[in-house]
Order: sequence, then C-alpha cells, then structure tokens
Amino acid sequence: MNTLLPTSIAGSLPKPAWLAQPETLWSPWKLQGAELVEGKQDALRLALQNQRQSGIDIISDGEQSRQHFVTTFIEQLNGVDFKKRKTVKIRNRYEASVPMVVDEVTRPSSVFVEDAKFLRKLTKQPIKWALPGPMTMVDTLFDDHYKNRGALAWEFAKLLNQEAKELEAAGVDIIQFDEPAFNVFFDEVNDWGIAALERAAEGLKCETAVHICYGYGIKANTDWKKTLGSEWRQYEDVFPKLQSSTIDIVSLECQNSRVPMDLIELIRGKKVMVGAIDVATNSIETPEEVADTLRKVLQFVDADKLYPSTNCGMTPLSRTVAEGKMQALSAGAAIVRGELG
Ligand SMILES: [Zn+2]
Repeated sequence: MNTLLPTSIAGSLPKPAWLAQPETLWSPWKLQGAELVEGKQDALRLALQNQRQSGIDIISDGEQSRQHFVTTFIEQLNGVDFKKRKTVKIRNRYEASVPMVVDEVTRPSSVFVEDAKFLRKLTKQPIKWALPGPMTMVDTLFDDHYKNRGALAWEFAKLLNQEAKELEAAGVDIIQFDEPAFNVFFDEVNDWGIAALERAAEGLKCETAVHICYGYGIKANTDWKKTLGSEWRQYEDVFPKLQSSTIDIVSLECQNSRVPMDLIELIRGKKVMVGAIDVATNSIETPEEVADTLRKVLQFVDADKLYPSTNCGMTPLSRTVAEGKMQALSAGAAIVRGELG
C-alpha cells in the first residue's frame, strides 16, 4: 500500500431502501430475478461511490449483494439443508434457528466472484473482500453429518480457499475472513481455529486478513458486552498464535471498547486494521477523536502497518450515519498522516 494509514471499512454498509429493509439484519430482498441482479449491482456502484466520496482508500463491496455475512455463502454450498432447522445458541450469546449440515459439504460454483469482477471493473483502488471464517460458519449451523466442529471447519476451509483463489484471480487485493467466533471459543481457536483459517488462506498471493470483533451494534451484542467487565481481554487468548500465523493483517475492535490497547502489542509485526469508529452508536466521531485513537495505537503498531478502519460492519446503521462515520475516519486518518509527515 503506497498511502500511509490507508482507510477501509470492516465489512458491511447499509443497503438502499429500494433493495432491502434498512437497519435490519437478514433483511429480505425487495426485488426478484433479473431486477434483483441489477439492483445489487446498482447498490455496489453506490457503495463504491459513498466510500470514494468519503475518502476511503481500500474499497469493500459493503456486502451489498448478500443478505448476511455468513448465511449467504453457506446458501450456495451443497450439504446444508436450509429447510431442516434447529435452534442453537450462536457464539454462546443468542438463540437462532439455523440450517442443518446433512451431508458432505461442497461448493458447486463460485459465490461472490461475479460481484468481485463487477466491482473490480469500476475502480482502480485496492479492493478488500470479506468471507466468513471457518469457525464462525460452523457456529451458525447444526451439524448432523460430521458431528465434529473441527472436522466441519476444515471442510469449510477448503471450500473458502477455492473461493478465495477465484476472488484473487478476479483482482481482489485483500481477502478478509470474518471470525467473530474467535472472541468466544478460545480453546478451539488454538486447537483448530487458526489451523483452519490458515488452510482457508493457503497459497494466496494477495494479502490476507482476519477480522475479530465484538459484533454488530445490535442488542444481543451490547447486552453481552455489559457482562464482560471493565477490561475486555479476549484478544489476549488468540493474538499470540495469530502473531505467528501466516495471516498478514488483523482487523480488531478498538474505539469505545474496553479492550486494553496494549494487547495490540501481542501481534506486533502484523498489519493491524484498527477499529477507530464505533458501530454501536449513532453518534458520529469527530476527526479529532479518530486521530486521538490512532495516535494511541501507534504506540503498539508501526506507522507503516496501521490501517484505520471501523470496529465492525455498519449494516444496522442509517446510511447518513454510516457516511458520516466514513468521513470522520478519513479525516481523522488525514490528521495523523499529516503529523507523521
Ligand atoms: Zn465484526
């Protein structure tokens, strides 16, 4: 990356109201068939335009072509039955009715590659594409076939790797795996989670990232955060092994969180996408607040490895708030860039 402190968003952006009900997770599409295809492409154009006008350096698709960051990928796989459902607890936090793994999982065709090619044609800026991480996928399903979370994650990792290689060939510069589950199942992360993540990223020549957060700004997550005490030390359990992993970039939550900043020292040497924007509030950070967070983080990350970002995806926010936050992120990064000369 040529720019110092290149900015990006962690993942999703709000969808336009004509495409899906805004400020809602798993919001159903309002269009169908060819109109839906065209609608998703128009939303991608808008997401690009919004990021560009807000001064974002690394462009994401804003997840405009998917209903949900995990489910949409799984829907395209064989071996998972969406009609057979069971209620499970996701990330030990909230109950959800989830589909069932009933057979060997396979990926009959690519999932996001056409969308990535479409976005690639529209911009010369670097593109980051997010995929769900293997552990987080396992945690949103009921497994009636492998009956072993590590084994299922390994199979998903192979399928993710196929998808990631096709995204790379389509011109994606950074492939990010979203692993919020890494913040919950520490023993499993160290037993097989990181190995599965590395398997998903195996052989990629583009940069690879892992996003580990405390979730969207929805009630189940904000309630959970209230139980975590005055210091959130979850990263302490997974960062040492991530530091020695093959993954290039770690995307983490910082702004307004109770994560002690010195935990970032544990991944020294990695590039760090630091959440300098809180996605759990509608109040928009000032550029100075963003700059202040980045200055503090610079104690633990070398300037050439600091990538200012958001704490998590912004799907649940209004479009106005999301745009304001992107602009604050860029303006805050510009202040610190100026200071660094
Ligand atoms: Zn997140």
